[in-house]
Amino acid sequence: MGKPTGFMEIARVENPYRDEAARLRDFEGLHIPQPTDARRAQASRCMNCGVPFCQSDFGCPLHNLIPEWNDLLYRGREREALERLLQTAPFPEFTGRVCPALCEKACNLENDALTNRDNELYLIETGFERGWIQPRIPKLRTGKRVAVVGSGPSGLACADLLNRLGHEVTVIERADRAGGLLMYGIPNMKLPKAIVERRIQLMEAEGVRFLLNTEAEPEITNEYDAVALCGGAKRPRTLNVPGSFAVDYLTAATRAVLSGSDPSIDARDKHVVVVGGGDTGNDCVGTALRQGCASVVQLEMMPAPPVERMANNPWPEWPRTLRTDYGQLEAIYRQGSDPRIYETTVKRLLPGQVETVKLKGFDPIPGTEQIIPCDLMLIAAGFVGCETATAERFNVKLNPRGCMLPENGGHHLRANLFSAGDMRTGQSLVVRSLADGRAAAMEIHNWLGGKAL
Ligand SMILES: Cc1cc2nc3c(=O)[nH]c(=O)nc-3n(C[C@H](O)[C@H](O)[C@H](O)COP(=O)(O)OP(=O)(O)OC[C@H]3O[C@@H](n4cnc5c(N)ncnc54)[C@H](O)[C@@H]3O)c2cc1C
Repeated sequence: MGKPTGFMEIARVENPYRDEAARLRDFEGLHIPQPTDARRAQASRCMNCGVPFCQSDFGCPLHNLIPEWNDLLYRGREREALERLLQTAPFPEFTGRVCPALCEKACNLENDALTNRDNELYLIETGFERGWIQPRIPKLRTGKRVAVVGSGPSGLACADLLNRLGHEVTVIERADRAGGLLMYGIPNMKLPKAIVERRIQLMEAEGVRFLLNTEAEPEITNEYDAVALCGGAKRPRTLNVPGSFAVDYLTAATRAVLSGSDPSIDARDKHVVVVGGGDTGNDCVGTALRQGCASVVQLEMMPAPPVERMANNPWPEWPRTLRTDYGQLEAIYRQGSDPRIYETTVKRLLPGQVETVKLKGFDPIPGTEQIIPCDLMLIAAGFVGCETATAERFNVKLNPRGCMLPENGGHHLRANLFSAGDMRTGQSLVVRSLADGRAAAMEIHNWLGGKAL
């Protein structure tokens, strides 16, 4: 176990943010990585608990062997630590940047938890730097062909594992670049797009084929031995007023960053109102500030969460407490106050303005209307399931949450058709969709003949 007294001697120190003034000038990464000594010291704090909740269902959906690789990292055995990490984590360079780190909230050290996410990121980036990450080309091929529809984290994880198991995998993606929401959704400052491209190139070198700009048609069920539908759940919740959907706005922003041109939806010099106080809304706030908006507010229907855990939300559950994310911190820096306005929604849109109203539960409170400036309204009010068009074309019935969840709760829809990721579960997290993609890959592998192959 790390250093027996490590957690008593050494304080938790996260990778610090670049300061706001600098990071608001560009779309580069948010954090400053720390050197090797600092990482080893942080890893030494792991207590190797009898019951490591960090790697349990409460902590890591991938069941990463966190105490084991923290111990190896502490001892300076980075390469072995990375190998241990890669046994369960397909793409630590993504989770090491964007995971909310459920494992840290489940850590026995609670508020003083291990910095697992930063440690994970250090291991994988060290691996890339030192050339330890090389294409792993399967020695045997099964002769079975699998199509994976969608190249988000679930599709990539599914394709990666099926390829390792020797199947011939083709990823079919309608967008011009692979990655799903990793590419067009999560902003560049949280996940630089070169990092996504690096992984796609590695997978190509390992034998996975990517067909971009290609809409998946149902005929593929005849052309391939198995098909995994991993098309995500991006159908947005609509409002009674018009506005741009958050993912469309964030996609346009990323396209502009990648091409060096002006975004097709631009917040420059505009008063921006983001409807939705969650993580997607926060990404819109951070992006609008970088584009040079005149002001930004974020409306949230629900009351502000409590600062401390409530009695009905004990450790090691994910804490439903107030979090102030990077975009909101940047708004506080730029505007002097938190952009979030709670228990409030939009009543109507006026020229250059919006009328808001306070809510009690979901009911508007008469007389609480307010007018605020608004030149650009961004709707980040959540998602209501996967696209109906794909479901209709593949003749799959959606469940009440708008997802392709088979009745037995698994991944097998019918005949040679499977589903995974947000398309199966509804909008979730990168780490959950990675785990779901891998689980689907194992189900497909077994269905194709498993070990017998
Ligand atoms: C703005 C935003 C920010 C987020 N930030 C975070 C974060 O910081 N951390 C985190 O853990 N989670 C985050 N999430 C959630 C996370 O991104 C998703 O849970 C995850 O990407 C889901 O992966 P997926 O593979 O199931 O689907 P997606 O990533 O949605 O990928 C689906 C892909 O399928 C393609 N596709 C769909 N239908 C077809 C078809 N018929 N033919 C061909 N291609 C098709 C789509 O073009 C898309 O590329 C965020 C979500 C959003 C919207």
